[in-house]
Amino acid sequence: MTAQTAEQRDLTAVIGLEVHVQLETETKIFCGCSTQPDDDEEPNTRTCPVCLGLPGALPVLNEGAVEAAVKVGKALGSEIPEETRFHRKNYYYPDLPKNFQITQYDAPICDSGEIEFGVDGDRRTVEIERAHLEEDPGSLSHAGGSIDTAEYTLIDYNRAGTPLMEIVTAPDFRSAAEARAFLAKLTEVLEYLGVFDVTRNGSLRVDANLSIVDAAEVDEGGGIDEETLESANRTEVKNISSHKGAEKALAYEETRQKNAIQRGREVEQETRHWDESRGITVSMRSKEEEKDYRYFREADLPPLRVSGWKEEIEIPELPDARRERFREEYGLDAESASKLTSTKQVADFYERIAEKFDSGLAATWVADNLLGELHYRDMAITDVTDRLGEFTRLVELVDTGEITVKNAEEVVLRRMLDDRLDPETVVESEGLGKTDDDAVAAAVSDAIEENPDAVEDYHAGEDGALNFLVGQVMAETGGSADPGTVNELLRERLEG
Ligand code: ZN
Ligand code: MN
Repeated sequence: MTAQTAEQRDLTAVIGLEVHVQLETETKIFCGCSTQPDDDEEPNTRTCPVCLGLPGALPVLNEGAVEAAVKVGKALGSEIPEETRFHRKNYYYPDLPKNFQITQYDAPICDSGEIEFGVDGDRRTVEIERAHLEEDPGSLSHAGGSIDTAEYTLIDYNRAGTPLMEIVTAPDFRSAAEARAFLAKLTEVLEYLGVFDVTRNGSLRVDANLSIVDAAEVDEGGGIDEETLESANRTEVKNISSHKGAEKALAYEETRQKNAIQRGREVEQETRHWDESRGITVSMRSKEEEKDYRYFREADLPPLRVSGWKEEIEIPELPDARRERFREEYGLDAESASKLTSTKQVADFYERIAEKFDSGLAATWVADNLLGELHYRDMAITDVTDRLGEFTRLVELVDTGEITVKNAEEVVLRRMLDDRLDPETVVESEGLGKTDDDAVAAAVSDAIEENPDAVEDYHAGEDGALNFLVGQVMAETGGSADPGTVNELLRERLEG
């Protein structure tokens, strides 16, 4: 092929993801060590002979991790087999001192499944090939920054043994943006299930496979035949730890491979490392194959039978279903329903408010006012879930007309968040209670008496005059009068 024709090749990226997520359990998957890091913990202190891999130590499976895995399987629509088994994945690397990882090989706890998500206004469905349980290795920190330039590496086994679920997708993604949208949806589902904490450092890690094929090989339904996929050399990019990182790493890798192919070079089949700080992928080693791991049965753990039990494990309403119900039950538009179901905590919070007030009023206060102010402060709903009662009283003060909407939004809510005050304290200290009728009437009289020019202008039919007088009354009452009422009173007095 000449360079001329090479440049005209229309190429498409084929992407598959292996997503490792930490499951939220009290203790590690095969021992009783806590999974919850202390703020000031020393390295290698949250450990025991099992998670340090000392000779003779025996693993005991954590029931909570299995329960969480079954929930994930149910949410993905997976087949959960009667019996599932554990295997040893052998490799020599200091993050696992026993030189193998306990994982699941040919009998994973979740077989097949799918996830539907939105990207650029389209709905996409990606197939899940499998999802299995395994143990997290320890964490390495490379002194001097980067894995390929560090002088030495430190190891911390506090993380070792944290339950992980590895979720493997089919190579169904065609762009980095799709992969990012998928990860956002997966995270949302896992959070709804209550098995995952997105805020925990390192709770999500992604390995991404990417290869490039001729666009002509993609059929109308977006499918690509096995042979084409097999013949394209792919790279596996490791060390991706966020949705945004996945999109950046894959976009980089797509461009790198396309450029190589356009120049007539072959893409090496290899493992590459995503260097977040430099924004590039770097070559690590030629990619190992499955046979290199010498998988064999973990004889220290008996086969796991979840039949009978798995039916009893319930999962909550998932985000898509909840969004749909919010639209029907509360009459919300798509945008509000989407905002109010962005996390399970937000949705729960909204439903508690909507029980007591009009659903539209509740939506305005939670979706627009509260979430807006929280976002501005870099806070989350979880920072105020314990203050549901205070927030309910704020909406009540507005609903009963005790304070104006403007004061509620601009003063009370903001001080509740900034100074952690309850709404009554703010209303009292700022003198925001609506001025009683007599005081408003007096302020109206004052405004008319003190501004004869404006009164004259009003009678001459000049537009701004009434607004000016309303403004005088509002100022007099410290903004606590209702502008509509003031308007009405002024007209009555001026016309009368
Ligand atoms: Zn342990
Ligand atoms: Mn894995």
